[in-house]
Amino acid sequence: MSNYHIKHLEEYYQVYRKSVRNPESFWEEIAEEHFLWRKKWDNVLSWDFKKPEVKWFEGAKLNITENCIDRHLATRGDKTAILFEPNDPNEGAEHITYKQLYHRVNQFANVLKEQGVKKGDRVCIYVPMIPELAISVLACARIGAIHSVVFAGFSSTALSTRINDSDCKLVITADGSYRGSKTIDLKGIVDEALESCNGVETVLVAKRINSNISMKEGRDTWLQPLLDEASNQCKAEIMDAEDPLFILYTSGSTGKPKGMVHTTAGYMVYTAYTFKNAFQYKENDLYWCTADIGWITGHSYIVYGPLANGATTVLFEGVPSYPDFGRFWDIVDKHKVNQFYTAPTAIRALAKQGVELVEKYDLSSLKVLGSVGEPINEEAWHWYNDNVGKNKSPIIDSWWQTETGGIMITPIPYVTPTKPTYATLPFIGIQPCLMDENGVELKGNQVDGRLCIKFPWPSIARTIWGNHQRYKDTYFSTYENMYFTGDGALRDEVGYYRITGRVDDVIIVSGHNLGTAPIEDAINEHPAVAESAIVGFPHDVKGSALYGYITLKDVGESRNHDNLRKEINQLISDRIGPISKLEKIQFTQGLPKTRSGKIMRRILRKIAEKDTSNLGDTSTLLNPECVQDIMDNVL
Ligand code: ATP
Ligand code: MG
Repeated sequence: MSNYHIKHLEEYYQVYRKSVRNPESFWEEIAEEHFLWRKKWDNVLSWDFKKPEVKWFEGAKLNITENCIDRHLATRGDKTAILFEPNDPNEGAEHITYKQLYHRVNQFANVLKEQGVKKGDRVCIYVPMIPELAISVLACARIGAIHSVVFAGFSSTALSTRINDSDCKLVITADGSYRGSKTIDLKGIVDEALESCNGVETVLVAKRINSNISMKEGRDTWLQPLLDEASNQCKAEIMDAEDPLFILYTSGSTGKPKGMVHTTAGYMVYTAYTFKNAFQYKENDLYWCTADIGWITGHSYIVYGPLANGATTVLFEGVPSYPDFGRFWDIVDKHKVNQFYTAPTAIRALAKQGVELVEKYDLSSLKVLGSVGEPINEEAWHWYNDNVGKNKSPIIDSWWQTETGGIMITPIPYVTPTKPTYATLPFIGIQPCLMDENGVELKGNQVDGRLCIKFPWPSIARTIWGNHQRYKDTYFSTYENMYFTGDGALRDEVGYYRITGRVDDVIIVSGHNLGTAPIEDAINEHPAVAESAIVGFPHDVKGSALYGYITLKDVGESRNHDNLRKEINQLISDRIGPISKLEKIQFTQGLPKTRSGKIMRRILRKIAEKDTSNLGDTSTLLNPECVQDIMDNVL
């Protein structure tokens, strides 16, 4: 039996039991056998969820880049580490080998050092999905600087807030970025942001689109000439296990983004181990995660997890719709991708386009399909399974959060039998539980409650940057001695978990607690529906009633809308029960989403409640234009 690589269900159960009965010895063995340490730990784990404080592998010394790069040089030096697929398919892919990555990271690290960046300093990375993004992340880690990657689609306000919150002294950016047929003036956004960031001394600018930008004397420097001058050797800074590796802000679906702090050793061990198993990664597989490195998914499963396993990871600059909606499948076909990890929002958008664009390509290389970010509704699950996976590639519906650092609940492909809409079983070492509103744990199966985690895992975020109290209040104050996820879930008759939505979004109709996901699922089964979101609004008799926002596949749908409303409610009634029927149904052109593609129910709720005085900052949305349209047509 191998604890590092789970190959069948019986083995999963055995290893799982071992990992929760004696977590310390379990993780110690994984850490000992599969990573490179400059010094081993004095203590595997100390924790106290009351403070809260968690420390893994205390006393150990390491550098994560030695684990992600250096140690592969002897055996995988000429293997591709990063396969860069540019926005424009005609530009051609770039293969960066482990040896080249080693040299480029070292050069970049030396540039940062010359600019005065030291261990513990914060560096803001506002770079599009080009190799410099991954390389700058690793260069920071090489010298012990704390990276704070900000998604390069965010506005100047979102950027300046994040720069100031974590006190960054240096910003790495690019002259601009490509996004499908458009270019974005990134440097202009940075200039605007920095008008309100006094702490930033230096801006390093990578050249991507060759646009004519202005450089501020004494502050802005082109990156390439500095890299050309720099040595390609840079000794790795030796870090403590608990030294911060990075700060990353949550998506902000539920409020002001939180700057989660992840530390070095536990994060490395957990992301590497989950990557290996959740994707069943084998040497020479080609792995592609479509997320942006600006999100936790990109940190853990484009950069650190894959590289720690010596994998080849695809870095895609473009968008799923350019040059046409077949781009994802074109890339899978061209590079023979084996593992493909994306988000439900992308699947729904592609499903809306029909199957012709999928069928044009040879997808037979695919072995594992993944989904993350939101509940994947049943309709989208089947579309993905039938058309992309051809019923032979298991879908891993992986539930986790920025705060958790790595995948927490997921099927292990070819090990755990999948079930649509279920994230299924806890990953090795993860101890989930369900709590009721009164703080009582719901034991046994077929229960529905609030999802908590009982015991620390190696990659749990250690704090919120500069605000430990908020960390404590948000995650550790709702239930005693538990990490509270903020999500609701149910456990079915075999112990599989299904995430039912955010606890804050639960709607109480005539005394019944209704989660959003199962109802949206039923709605999305209607053949005319592309996407939906439900929220509650005050109702005289029921307390709250359900308001549904529904986008149709064919926006110009000429069918009688009242009939469609009836059909949708009939579907809900059949699938879930009459209690979940929608009081009001508004057909929309689109649904407001965060930049990472999550539906912003918070805004929809306010509109349904007819309280639009304080919608918050909608400019950071992916599609702010749809908000006005929804407000204009509210029922
Ligand atoms: P904020 O915390 O600022 O409101 P956020 O929660 O959207 O933002 P993330 O950490 O990116 O920020 O997202 C984690 C959340 O995404 C989870 O708590 C859960 O609600 C949802 N999620 C992620 N994966 C899944 C999944 N497979 N199934 C259901 N929900 C998921
Ligand atoms: Mg969250």
